[in-house]
Amino acid sequence: MNIDNDNILKIVRYDLCTGCGTCVSLCPKGIIEMAINKNKGIYEPQLKEDKCNYCGVCYNICPGHDVDFGVLNSQIFGKKPADALIGNYTNCYIGHANDFHVN
Ligand code: SF4
Ligand code: SF4
Repeated sequence: MNIDNDNILKIVRYDLCTGCGTCVSLCPKGIIEMAINKNKGIYEPQLKEDKCNYCGVCYNICPGHDVDFGVLNSQIFGKKPADALIGNYTNCYIGHANDFHVN
């Protein structure tokens, strides 16, 4: 396996992984799993199978190095976010409680 290509093995190799697990949920091939690194005492991602096609999704969404939200939104939602801070959304609501009596 070539770890010089852009997947999370590069993040782990440079000790940039925070153990957030986001890469596990977004890998389109479902080949990333979290496993304990007994030397470090933390969870880190590893590849379950040697089926990585180096699509770059896991690397590009990883907060361990950098996230380009414009590119990320284009990859996931097919468009840039309407608002840079909020991101993409379908609808936005504000709510509040209208019962002034505490039981
Ligand atoms: S997304 Fe990055 S920081 Fe989060 S678990 Fe995967 S490699 Fe680690
Ligand atoms: S590069 Fe793509 S296929 Fe390979 S582990 Fe990352 S998200 Fe999965």
